[in-house]
Amino acid sequence: MIIRSHHTDTPTMPFDPIYRLAGSWFSPAGTNARLSILIYHRVQAETDPLFPDEATVASFDRQMAQVKRVFNVLPLPEAVARLKAGSLPARAACITFDDGYADNLTLATPILQKHGLNATFFIATAYLNGGRMFNDTVIEAIRRADSEHLDLRALDLGEHDVSTPQAKAQAIGHILPVVKYLPLGKREDTVAELAQRVTRQALPDDLMMTTEQLKALHGAGMEIGGHTQRHPIIAGLDDTATRDEIAAGKDWLEATLGGKVRVFAYPNGRPVADYRAEQARIVEGLGFEGAVSTQYGVSTRATDPWQLRRFTPGWGGPSRFVPMLINNLRQTG
Ligand SMILES: [Zn+2]
Repeated sequence: MIIRSHHTDTPTMPFDPIYRLAGSWFSPAGTNARLSILIYHRVQAETDPLFPDEATVASFDRQMAQVKRVFNVLPLPEAVARLKAGSLPARAACITFDDGYADNLTLATPILQKHGLNATFFIATAYLNGGRMFNDTVIEAIRRADSEHLDLRALDLGEHDVSTPQAKAQAIGHILPVVKYLPLGKREDTVAELAQRVTRQALPDDLMMTTEQLKALHGAGMEIGGHTQRHPIIAGLDDTATRDEIAAGKDWLEATLGGKVRVFAYPNGRPVADYRAEQARIVEGLGFEGAVSTQYGVSTRATDPWQLRRFTPGWGGPSRFVPMLINNLRQTG
């Protein structure tokens, strides 16, 4: 049963009052509030055969309608300030995107605008304007693999069947976690070498935003956040290198956009594995008002505002989406 409410094309669903009740139970207004922060990376026009669970225009549109009906969505800097002050509304939520993909502007932003929602976009500045993140070099090379079998033993990356989309996804799933933790220079060399061995086809150079697109995103009223320059795993960097990477990204964004960059997302974002707790103090010292990890769960007033938790919406169809967000409200740190 779908009842269309007046003055909006957002349908009202029969379970929404129950979800709001359960949401308010776990996440009341005020000092006991729990802040939900959702993570997205890309929104694609069609289902990606390699990653069929990734967000599409259709699924993202549906998810944003659901979030809007059940949660109170705030811009992230406002949510951080109100979490610190104990003045969040019940069922407070923020929407975030990592890395700086062009589809964030071309496909996600129109959907956010249609629903009247604000989101924060964390940008790894080095890959804008024709660059490509290391993970996308691996993904796009394997997508275009010239043969059905990859021998990457010379790169210490094993042998892989890539005869089907599922096999390609599995190969990518084995290779990325290894490549991700290589030192920055070696990571770039390794993925370049991998691409050469895997395909003779050119790889896309328009996955990330241009400077003009970033300005358009900012001009649309969306929040732009820091995500370093080159997306290193900062847990392995010393204090100087950490500060340099984070400050370089922040300074470039502020000079380019002519405004203050107030929030930051740790690359890859897992506490301990990807960043060390004491590095949160570097982020705080650089003038950010808050920062987000990828530790799942929600944040409370007891959570370090420079290590706020985030949740990747789980997969399993539209009817599972809000129940997963409600369930996530139970996980506090
Ligand atoms: Zn990232």
